[in-house]
Amino acid sequence: MAFTKKTVRDADVDGKRVLMRVDFNVPLKDGVVTDDTRVRAAIPTIQYLKEHNAKVILMSHLGRPDGTGFQPELSLRPAAEKLAELTGYEVKFVEDTYGEKAAEAVAALEPGDILVLENVRFDKREKKNDPEIAKTLASYGDVFVLDAFGTAHRAQGSVVGPAAYLPAYAGFLLEKEVDTLTGIFADPERPFVAIVGGSKVSSKIGVLDHLIDSADTLIIGGGMAYTFFLAKGYTVGSSLKEEDWVERAGDMLKKAEDKGVKILLPVDNVVADHFGEDAEGEIVDSDKIPDDRMGMDIGPKTRELYAEAIKGAKTVFWNGPMGVFEMDQFAAGTEAVCRAVADSDCTSIIGGGDSVAAVNKFGLADKMSWISTGGGASMELVEGKALPGVEALLDA
Ligand code: ADP
Ligand code: MG
Repeated sequence: MAFTKKTVRDADVDGKRVLMRVDFNVPLKDGVVTDDTRVRAAIPTIQYLKEHNAKVILMSHLGRPDGTGFQPELSLRPAAEKLAELTGYEVKFVEDTYGEKAAEAVAALEPGDILVLENVRFDKREKKNDPEIAKTLASYGDVFVLDAFGTAHRAQGSVVGPAAYLPAYAGFLLEKEVDTLTGIFADPERPFVAIVGGSKVSSKIGVLDHLIDSADTLIIGGGMAYTFFLAKGYTVGSSLKEEDWVERAGDMLKKAEDKGVKILLPVDNVVADHFGEDAEGEIVDSDKIPDDRMGMDIGPKTRELYAEAIKGAKTVFWNGPMGVFEMDQFAAGTEAVCRAVADSDCTSIIGGGDSVAAVNKFGLADKMSWISTGGGASMELVEGKALPGVEALLDA
């Protein structure tokens, strides 16, 4: 077990006011929640608290408000309604966060009640982690619970603030996320195959660096592969490349070799003459990319090679698509890797916003062991960083 903080199981919540930061940052269209994944993910802790007779006060941000007051299109009301619909519980909502109305709604709660406060980011002091905000929020609770994994990497008022005034515990989602994503470094079942793709080496350098410390095999794809090609002395035509990162990419290859970590790079690629929906793909080997072509996806030989490596894995961590999967003609590489992970008996852990979108696009989400609900937060954990929200909780 990699989780070292106290959880709601350790808290006395019977009849208590439990202030809980959740991640209800859901996509909305015309006031309707279009993807309820994050609301669903918070339910186990909410259910536990209700069943243990707590007065449950939920708070979250949604989107990027100006921080100058109420904005109807970013209200948390639709998320509160979604929670009611999914659980069958009565869910109260108050159109206020830091004012008298919110305090009154909290004071009126009975054990087992659930109240959702309005968007914490309607006041710009939230993002500045203003102590006044933290004090006001803390006054609503006897106990603080953090279950918002998706914002646990942000030291903001509602995430870390109340922990200064109240005993602070982790919710079940936070516990599971941290446990899973740090577990791959603690004691993964081997072979451990890490797959990293996406657009840039620069944004994934920390992830690559830390994964090399733990993985047996590191599979590289996506736009970042071309910077690795440059490090190997290939030319890459007009592919995405980061000249300033070629040296670091080379160091990474060297580090892997020294540690006995096998690195797989694409052996062939789907290339196009421009980046666009109407671009047509053709297949070329990695050392033969023409000057006027750009790499858009891994090629068919690479798909097989990667699928074979994934097949033998006991643990897989995957972050970053293998190609420009948003365009169907360049989605085959990402789909092949996704299917190989889904078909394997391994423990499969998926992190990163676009990678999760890809898994959903191919309809393979229920074949994965764990799909992280936090993009940025999951990347920070995989980089080996501590999350401020987690740090602020009581030690177990
Ligand atoms: P994640 O959100 O899963 O961490 P990233 O944000 O790092 O993933 O990368 C996702 C993006 O990388 C996608 O938008 C995809 O189109 C892009 N991408 C993948 N392969 C290439 C490529 N060969 N050239 C340009 N962009 C690419
Ligand atoms: Mg992304």
